[in-house]
Amino acid sequence: MATMQEPILLDRPDAPLVGGYEVIIGFETHAQLSTQSKIFSRASTAFGAEPNTQACAVDLALPGTLPVMNQGAVERAIAFGLAVNSHIAEKSVFARKNYFYPDLPKGYQISQFEIPVVQGGTVEFFLGEKKMSVRLVRAHLEEDAGKSLHEDFIGQSGIDLNRAGTPLLEIVTEPDMRSSAEAVAYAKELHKIVTWIGICDGNMQEGSFRCDANVSVRKPGGKLGTRREIKNLNSFKFMQQAIDYEVRWQIEQIEDGHQIQQATVLFNPDTGETRAMRTKEDAADYRYFPDPDLPPLCIAREWVEKVRGEMAELPRAMAARFETDYGLSEYDATQLTQSLALSAYFEAAAQACAQPKLASNWITGELARRLNAQDLSIDQAPVQATTLAALISRISDGTISNNAARQVMDALWEDSSASVDAVIEAKGLKQMNDSGALEKIVDDVLAANAKNVAEFRGGNEKALNGLVGQIMKASKGKANPQQVNDLLRAKLI
Ligand code: ADP
Ligand code: MG
Repeated sequence: MATMQEPILLDRPDAPLVGGYEVIIGFETHAQLSTQSKIFSRASTAFGAEPNTQACAVDLALPGTLPVMNQGAVERAIAFGLAVNSHIAEKSVFARKNYFYPDLPKGYQISQFEIPVVQGGTVEFFLGEKKMSVRLVRAHLEEDAGKSLHEDFIGQSGIDLNRAGTPLLEIVTEPDMRSSAEAVAYAKELHKIVTWIGICDGNMQEGSFRCDANVSVRKPGGKLGTRREIKNLNSFKFMQQAIDYEVRWQIEQIEDGHQIQQATVLFNPDTGETRAMRTKEDAADYRYFPDPDLPPLCIAREWVEKVRGEMAELPRAMAARFETDYGLSEYDATQLTQSLALSAYFEAAAQACAQPKLASNWITGELARRLNAQDLSIDQAPVQATTLAALISRISDGTISNNAARQVMDALWEDSSASVDAVIEAKGLKQMNDSGALEKIVDDVLAANAKNVAEFRGGNEKALNGLVGQIMKASKGKANPQQVNDLLRAKLI
């Protein structure tokens, strides 16, 4: 959608360069809103039905039909605006975007043009440890088109209008991203927000969340380059590959003395290449004008407040609460609010063991590593939050060492019905808490290692490590390393 003015570029001296070029990326994302019925009709939006069984007279554009605004779609747009600190327009306007394509029976798409419902806002996220912020231009409501089905086996094409009229929120950013990694991190954050607040199911395979990446390159500080728009990226992996390919291609063209033509391109995952689909239309080609069948969309402030009141805690607010209530770093708090399920897991574990910092470390460390390795989501974790809490309690009360805890975790992962104490018992992992027994081992080791003792006393700190190692070995790993250290120093100094 056109913003008409030239974008105001952020100064990004930190931007990574590719072959001496700065990469500039802006996103347009279509999020399908999770309403039961379509944006202007009562037909169902359910995915996967027999073709044309969910297209009513309005969706088919039969003469005499009129669109009726779906209240649920507006509420979802409001919720999105609130989640990203946008202005919710008191009055926005639906417009007709005119173009001719077999899957668009009316000959126009109802969208919003000059005055969208959601204006401005920011999406904040971490890229590694670096905090980023992408400015939104707008988010507007519009209807989806149908689908052309090419039935190669009978040599014919058909049109399925089940998708026609499905509500979409198109979310447009300023060209604030400077690499494919930033673009993917932004898209993941946006995906998190829309699924967290429940306005979109986020199913990328089914097309519920699809991104168009606008990409250009320029010499740092130079004139803004001409962009090409990669359409319909529906996986984060393809997004990264497509942008990387496109950037290399554009640089090569420029280095060869060619000019970039503004164009719409498609990414082919089989070849890993982008290819021009059509030269890009300008807004003027669409002959936009306000839709006379729909009055302006007026949103009373009370309605905005009602939606706000019904919204669950947002990821950013929750992360801030985790910092104050549990003393976590901003980075950890953000990690733990990557999904509602993960945040719930953390809170359950932190409260059960009263050791939030340890719970955070275990969840973002050991647990995340194991989940990643097996490509499991937090809901599929074989170890429940309360079980992890029990494990953490055994570390903090000195029963087991961190090392032993990892072994317990391995066992729990294999058998999710096992109890922490039973595993500690069965594997004999209890730390040696009997100071008399430990002292005896220490004395034996000191007596047998006079050379190390002399070296340590002579100022060689490292000699102590050798002694600690021997003691740990003699205790079959059950001694508490800190206690061993303290005892040794007490005896040697
Ligand atoms: P449309 O593609 O519908 O014509 P816009 O002009 O609003 O719409 O631009 C769409 C997206 O392209 C926005 O995200 C914007 O930030 C981004 N964009 C605009 N110019 C450039 C550019 N030179 N390089 C990269 N992205 C750009
Ligand atoms: Mg566009």
